Amino acid sequence: MAKRSIADIDVAGRRVLTRVDFNVPLDGGRIVDDRRIEAALPTIRSIVSRGGRAVLLSHLGRPKGVGYEEAYSLRPVAKRLEELLGEEAIGGVAFPSEDCLDEAAQAAVEALPEGGVALLENLRFHAGEKKGDADFAARLASLGEIYCNDAFGTCHRSDASMVALPRAMKPAPAVAGFLLDAEIRYLQGAVADPKRPFVAILGGAKVSDKLGAIRHLLERVDALVVGGAMAYTLLAAQGVAVGGSRVEPDMLGEAKDVLDLAAAKGRQLLLPIDHVCGRALQAGTETISVDGAIPEGWMGLDVGPRTAEAFASAIRAAGTVVWNGPMGVFEMPPFDAGTRRVAEAVAAATEAGAVTIAGGGDTAAAVEVFGVANRLSHVSTGGGASLEMLEGKAFESLAMLDDA
Ligand code: AMP
Repeated sequence: MAKRSIADIDVAGRRVLTRVDFNVPLDGGRIVDDRRIEAALPTIRSIVSRGGRAVLLSHLGRPKGVGYEEAYSLRPVAKRLEELLGEEAIGGVAFPSEDCLDEAAQAAVEALPEGGVALLENLRFHAGEKKGDADFAARLASLGEIYCNDAFGTCHRSDASMVALPRAMKPAPAVAGFLLDAEIRYLQGAVADPKRPFVAILGGAKVSDKLGAIRHLLERVDALVVGGAMAYTLLAAQGVAVGGSRVEPDMLGEAKDVLDLAAAKGRQLLLPIDHVCGRALQAGTETISVDGAIPEGWMGLDVGPRTAEAFASAIRAAGTVVWNGPMGVFEMPPFDAGTRRVAEAVAAATEAGAVTIAGGGDTAAAVEVFGVANRLSHVSTGGGASLEMLEGKAFESLAMLDDA
């Protein structure tokens, strides 16, 4: 169900409590990757350009929940946001204090001019945030008149700012920001009403992490392509020799069920038929290419060229592609080739008219590294959230938003 958008409400002069996901990777106070800040800019701009007052709320990392900890401060984010917004934020970006609810924070929100932006300190400095606490939410609620959720990366969580806060603010409008809107439209929309053929690509470390997604997608796709370490558990369940590849022995039963489900539904299931193997998961390891069975003493670290070509040709023919998880150890050449080939095929499919979506932290990183991110329809900013959406889970945080 589509949600009411920030674009549809009058924000002039009003304080919009905007939950963003500024949980960016930091290295000694330096922001390593600011994509999550960039991704929230359209919503912030929409508020300030119409004379609204944007009060931004976010978490960062996993502080203990007993007050301020410098390592988890949003201060570097406030600085970066101010650089990105420049003159668009009237009076700059206010970053009032070390506590999102202290007097200085309240005073800064009170004093915010029309078109102004304030970022409050890490919500998780209060234990109430993770607990979904109603009292904490009620105190936050007093800071604004409109609730806007643009924190897709946190939407699978029921933290106070995601659920209890919009509940506490009712009957105030509760709307979706542009990032959230795009994520829902692509991730839910593509799966619910795909242009066919619908091809899902799953990869990454563990089959156990992606079982829910496999099951949900198998109900809907025409073809399921599986690579990465998780493919070895499926191959082992088929009785294929996988040598020393990473297998989850306790998942073999589940893996058999998945294979049976694919067969029963008549879905095309593409598994690796050749492999690039190493002696160990380490840079500079001796490598061999293997067709079919993997000998003892070797582990599959990437799909082989015949597999990559088979995957690419299924992808190029697709009307919809959903991709979560790399095809091999893409961080470590030469085991990046399979993931690169798939990334290029997904980009080519987009250019041939397919709707293509990549999600998950590693997959988003891979498409960025391979330079194809801009050639896909959508690259999700959410890791856990995008996977849970592919599992077909309902999110409490989205249920709190007004319907369009
Ligand atoms: P995930 O977070 O589940 O998407 O898994 C991503 C991780 O899986 C990456 O760090 C990859 O290096 C790793 N990976 C992918 N293929 C393999 C493989 N064949 N063997 C070991 N690790 C792999």
